[in-house]
Amino acid sequence: MPRAMTSLLVVGGNAAGMSCALKAKRRAPDLDVTVIEAGPNISYSSCGLPQLVAGTVKDPEDLLVLSPEKALERGVAVRTKTAAVALNPYTKEVTVQGPKGRDALHYDKLCIATGASPLNPLKHGDLKGVFALRHIWDGVRLMEHVDSGKGKRLAIIGGGYVGLEMAEAFLKRGSEVHLMQKGPHLLPQFDPDITDGLDEFVAQKGVRVHLDCEATGFSEGRREGHVGVVHSNLDDIHVDSALVSVGVRPNTGFAAKAGLHALSTGHLLVDDNMRTNFHDLWAAGDCVAARHLITGRPTGMPLALPSNRMGRIAGDSIAASTERIPGPSQTFAGVVGTVAMRLFGLGLAQTGLNEAQARKEGFDVATSLVETKSKASYMPGVRDMAVKMVADRDTGKLLGAELAGPEDAALRINAAAVALQAGMTARKFAEVETMYAPAFGPVWDPLLVAASEIAKQVRK
Ligand SMILES: Cc1cc2nc3c(=O)[nH]c(=O)nc-3n(C[C@H](O)[C@H](O)[C@H](O)COP(=O)(O)OP(=O)(O)OC[C@H]3O[C@@H](n4cnc5c(N)ncnc54)[C@H](O)[C@@H]3O)c2cc1C
Repeated sequence: MPRAMTSLLVVGGNAAGMSCALKAKRRAPDLDVTVIEAGPNISYSSCGLPQLVAGTVKDPEDLLVLSPEKALERGVAVRTKTAAVALNPYTKEVTVQGPKGRDALHYDKLCIATGASPLNPLKHGDLKGVFALRHIWDGVRLMEHVDSGKGKRLAIIGGGYVGLEMAEAFLKRGSEVHLMQKGPHLLPQFDPDITDGLDEFVAQKGVRVHLDCEATGFSEGRREGHVGVVHSNLDDIHVDSALVSVGVRPNTGFAAKAGLHALSTGHLLVDDNMRTNFHDLWAAGDCVAARHLITGRPTGMPLALPSNRMGRIAGDSIAASTERIPGPSQTFAGVVGTVAMRLFGLGLAQTGLNEAQARKEGFDVATSLVETKSKASYMPGVRDMAVKMVADRDTGKLLGAELAGPEDAALRINAAAVALQAGMTARKFAEVETMYAPAFGPVWDPLLVAASEIAKQVRK
């Protein structure tokens, strides 16, 4: 008798989910792979949404990486507009809600890759004209709203990197933009030494920046059911639309109810092969807690590269678990949180812990702050740049780095990310032979100078 095919069900069809599905199918072609996705699209670039709203990317279709038809050509069946609502890991069944109602899907292997959703904790956040951004269709709805003349005065709640990128995008689209940030600094995950003056810089570009301004809720304007005012601890701001960008929470309610181990934040706990505490059940992407390589603790880190990588590793491990494939060949090492952004021609980037985070973790911290030039001082287009580095005074090991400068300077953070993950000391890093050419930097690369400064303060 022919052997029944082993089935893999993947819940969530973006970065982690599709990476898992495609990798598993490549490694184990006998697997019967199905992806269910709550929304209408799979494999879309959320990271490109600010570019779409800014008009740099003209067509939303350009942000779609893979269609369900193309996925099927690669052996992966997709059911869109189908959400998992319950899970029974003992009977291996997922209850789904789709266009034709409820259904129960059996699986042999399951991967949860449901990502995270934007928080919207503000009162009356469900009024029309209040948006949150996650999926490509959120970006399309938002653009249609602005283009229909209802986004003339817009408030962005939250001055993190998505809020700032969107502020620039809406300005380009012709809106009057109010950016409300509850603390004293924009980009609060960065060290204030690096973001010093950022609020004035952004204000000069035309964004109305409201610092220490905690939005508390919305109320209607002249049109019933439609946002008209944002209330805060400071003044009320009259608007015709608002974007809430105050963080995300993992979409793991149904999984936690089924007994999967999770942090109190809802992030699912997994091992190095992305296995959960249930047999034949994996999880990957923004919905899981990965080991932070500096603190050693499981941490939610909602970033695209780690999500794609976790998805692949889950797929690899699932293929190996069919017992017909050797492996798994890869494990997930962990995360450090390497990010970069472009803002009105400025590049900002970060990897690892900033000074405040390192102190909170109990490290005896050595720091350096280097203000220097982005290229040889005689080169046209030379700009100021700043690097801050943090290391452990006892071991000399790097804990984190941040920088701000012209937009291409942000790429330098990758060297610091390599050093961090290799466990390098500041002294060792200061000895690295970096490239020199007048068009790209000074002879002594700003990161090397920052590391040398730290080397003078550490014990090893
Ligand atoms: C505006 C914006 C800009 C960003 N920019 C960057 C950037 O520059 N760099 C970077 O590294 N990261 C960036 N990110 C973050 C990055 O997009 C995410 O880290 C990445 O998409 C996570 O992939 P994921 O597959 O884990 O989750 P998601 O992309 O959230 O995908 C999960 C999918 O699961 C579906 N789903 C959820 N629940 C269910 C369910 N119950 N049943 C079925 N399907 C379900 C969702 O509809 C979704 O399609 C940005 C995010 C946003 C919103």
